[in-house]
Amino acid sequence: MSKITQTNWDVIIVGGGPAGFFAGIRCAELNPNLNVLIIEKAQQTLGKVLISGGGRCNVTHACFDPAQLITYYPRGGAALRGAFTRFQPEDTIKWFEKHGVKLKTESDGRIFPITDSSTTIAECLRESAKKAGVKVQTGMSLQKVESLSGNGFRLEVRSEARALRLQTKKLLLATGSDPATREIVKSLGHSIEEPVPSLFTFNISDKRLEGLAGVSVEPVTVKMDSLIQRGPLLITHWGLSGPAILRLSAWGARTLFEKKYHVTLHVNWLGDTTFDKALDVLQKHKTWHENARKKVLTEPAFTQLPARLWKQLANFIGEKNWGDISKAETRKLAGELTACQFEITGKGQFKEEFVTCGGVRLDEVNFKTMQSRVVDNLFFAGEVLNIDGITGGFNFQSSWTTGWLAGSALSSTDGLSG
Ligand SMILES: Cc1cc2nc3c(=O)[nH]c(=O)nc-3n(C[C@H](O)[C@H](O)[C@H](O)COP(=O)(O)OP(=O)(O)OC[C@H]3O[C@@H](n4cnc5c(N)ncnc54)[C@H](O)[C@@H]3O)c2cc1C
Repeated sequence: MSKITQTNWDVIIVGGGPAGFFAGIRCAELNPNLNVLIIEKAQQTLGKVLISGGGRCNVTHACFDPAQLITYYPRGGAALRGAFTRFQPEDTIKWFEKHGVKLKTESDGRIFPITDSSTTIAECLRESAKKAGVKVQTGMSLQKVESLSGNGFRLEVRSEARALRLQTKKLLLATGSDPATREIVKSLGHSIEEPVPSLFTFNISDKRLEGLAGVSVEPVTVKMDSLIQRGPLLITHWGLSGPAILRLSAWGARTLFEKKYHVTLHVNWLGDTTFDKALDVLQKHKTWHENARKKVLTEPAFTQLPARLWKQLANFIGEKNWGDISKAETRKLAGELTACQFEITGKGQFKEEFVTCGGVRLDEVNFKTMQSRVVDNLFFAGEVLNIDGITGGFNFQSSWTTGWLAGSALSSTDGLSG
């Protein structure tokens, strides 16, 4: 790619991710007279898009009611409420269709390109940016920003080990969770909620899970302190994963971080079934004359549970028949089924989607325009903000929405002089 030589710009966007591209395209499409530059420190743009969704890119989620949509964001939901009335998943679908990409919805609500390839999304964004006249410079990283008190910004950037200076009237920071750029944001007077990981699996070493990797159970209720989630759960070689666990990790991200990922987890393998109800079912099963001489381990009382899991949970009973187990053992089994206690010893990585919570404080940003309330003509979009969603396409949606809003505001010539 040839290097840019121009030093003065109307709009510079730092970060060639989904938020930066969406903003750049929107801005240049609305106002073709503006010269718009995206700078990206990596050698290629849209790196996360390419690896997203296991290479398929889960673009958004089929949830079209802003009030419901915000419930999928452990952080940032309230701020996004109004933003989603302006640009939400329905608009994302239309946007991609207008720009030549058809999307499809899967049975769980996740939306992907019909090609099942994240390259389709990356190429669409790159092509649309090119068509709109947005210039893109890779291998260039922002080092320092100086605000020129209402007259734009002076940027110090680094490209091929050379320091360069650029000037811009408006500046959008769409730098994702990059730690170095957070320091630049602070230097401009903004406050940062300290970043911690979100969306991860739980490491648990427990005899009851041995040999069960790959077993999934649905629906399960998982509880950690006052947090509760319900949904499918997957047993892995290292512990527990699946939607219920990932959601719990997102909502409990800060607490888990503070407790160094050593927390007690309770699993109700029977979804909403209470201890008393489970005990009742077990007692009936026990007293049913045909069961008296059958082994507990091979004659499950709850057939919805995978047989291997039942065996592990009832393992403490040994080879006893139903007719021989004590009241205490029956109660213990009801407990194993409805409030099974595990000690989390660490976190694992959810490879399909990896997200950080924390970032620019939301009360310092106007969510109608994504403009800073601290520095004139400075804008933010995407994961640089203290917003994160659960898995399912919600993280990209917040990047599309905030990028689109920022792009709309950047296109206006208000506040531009010279
Ligand atoms: C493995 C993986 C899979 C994922 N899958 C999904 C999914 O399927 N669906 C979903 O909704 N979400 C998914 N996510 C989350 C999603 O990728 C992010 O929420 C999203 O990319 C955030 O977009 P962004 O533009 O704000 O930031 P980013 O995509 O992180 O882009 C920011 C860009 O800014 C650049 N940059 C940073 N600092 C500087 C600097 N100083 N100078 C120049 N450039 C800079 C970075 O190099 C980067 O390219 C996934 C994440 C990962 C890691």
